[in-house]
Amino acid sequence: MSAQDCLFCKIVAGDIPCTKVYEDEWVLAFDDIAPHMPVHTLVVPKAHYDSIADDVPAEVLARVFAAVPEVARIKGVNASGFRTLANTGQDACQTVGHLHVHVLGGAPMNSGNPSL
Ligand code: 5GP
Ligand code: ZN
Repeated sequence: MSAQDCLFCKIVAGDIPCTKVYEDEWVLAFDDIAPHMPVHTLVVPKAHYDSIADDVPAEVLARVFAAVPEVARIKGVNASGFRTLANTGQDACQTVGHLHVHVLGGAPMNSGNPSL
C-alpha cells in the first residue's frame, strides 16, 4: 500500500482526526476507534511501513516499542499490566496496512490466545 492511500498516514498528517495519547519525533499513539478493552491505544511510526515484516529499520522498531511503556503510563495501566500486540499480514488479520502496535489493558485478559 502506498503512503498516500494509507489511513494511518492520514492520521499522522492530521488529515483524519484522532484522540492523541502520545507523540514524539518518531511515533504517534492514539486511541483505537473500536476499542476491545478499556484501554486500547495504537502506537504507529510516523513513517510508513506496511507492517513489522516490512524491512523496518531497527531504530524505528525501537522508537515504537520505547513509546509503549510511555503510553501505558499515560493511560494508567503501567502498574496493572497491559498487552502489546502487532498483527502482521493476512493470517493475523491485519486490517490497516501501516505498522502499528496495540496496547491493551484496563481489565484482566484471558491468559491464552492473545488474538483480538
Ligand atoms: P489491525 O486489525 O490492523 O491489527 O488493527 C487496526 C486497528 O485500527 C483496529 O483495531 C481498528 O479498530 C483501528 N482503526 C481502524 N480505523 C481507524 C480510525 O480511523 N481511527 C482509529 N483511531 N483507529 C482505527
Ligand atoms: Zn501509512
